[in-house]
Amino acid sequence: FNAEAYADALAQAAKKEDAKVIVVSQSANAKYLAPLLAVDLEAGYASNVVALPENTSPVTVKRTAFTNKAFNITEITTGRAIIGVSKNAYGLHETEASGTNEDFIPELGSEDFTVNVESVDKATDKVTIADAEVVVSGGRGLKGPENWGMIEELADVLGAATACSKPVSDMGWRPHSEHVGQTGKPVASNLYIAIGISGAIQHLAGINASKTKVVINNDPEAPFFKAADYGVVGDAFEVVPKLIEKLKTFKANQ
Ligand SMILES: Cc1cc2nc3c(=O)[nH]c(=O)nc-3n(C[C@H](O)[C@H](O)[C@H](O)COP(=O)(O)OP(=O)(O)OC[C@H]3O[C@@H](n4cnc5c(N)ncnc54)[C@H](O)[C@@H]3O)c2cc1C
Repeated sequence: FNAEAYADALAQAAKKEDAKVIVVSQSANAKYLAPLLAVDLEAGYASNVVALPENTSPVTVKRTAFTNKAFNITEITTGRAIIGVSKNAYGLHETEASGTNEDFIPELGSEDFTVNVESVDKATDKVTIADAEVVVSGGRGLKGPENWGMIEELADVLGAATACSKPVSDMGWRPHSEHVGQTGKPVASNLYIAIGISGAIQHLAGINASKTKVVINNDPEAPFFKAADYGVVGDAFEVVPKLIEKLKTFKANQ
């Protein structure tokens, strides 16, 4: 997928048809493409739209804000509007309509659309955060990457994915693909176990959708305890090995 090429072709089509509203999805590709298209068409772009426009003159849309904690109503006052509609924002509406196919060739020439791949994350046989029913997540309280063995062991016993807080991935203790939170990945697992994570609002924003949250932290005042369903006040280096042992015994007796 090359956003520049798609934006260029879409801009040509929109100009030709004098389109007033252009609707895009909220996939990663569309989030890359829409701002480029907006610049090309001098159009206002509203992302995270969660309902059909309330008005089309000017285009007025409802959007989520503050990591889904609030809504805002946005008026797009430019001549053209681009709206990025979230998944399942509204149901199916059947209508009599017809369309035609037409080719639009990006004008910049193919050499300008070359994509340089600088790194590739190798797929592993481990459960990914997005698909995981259970996530075991570690924070700065674990002191260093050398202590992640017990996190991985606990995750193995539970068939869980491993995750971490932002500083942990920023310091290179864990890969960025494991970073959970407002600026990382959202987690919607059935069980989220946070070990040595304080519970900063930006971390909690990413795990709101998880059903049961468990925290292990040696500071009873850690904010995570207010967000958690279950908590263990204790040293992770003592609690986690005991938990692994108990779970192994439990599984062996099943
Ligand atoms: C704009 C912005 C966006 C951000 N986005 C994110 C984000 O997406 N995700 C994210 O995680 N953060 C994010 N942050 C950072 C966030 O504010 C916190 O700084 C971060 O979550 C703290 O990480 P932590 O809990 O691992 O570390 P700390 O805050 O240092 O907490 C470590 C915890 O470990 C406990 N601990 C220490 N030793 C032990 C032990 N032996 N046993 C048990 N517990 C122990 C401590 O009591 C403490 O509660 C963002 C910040 C900003 C400003």
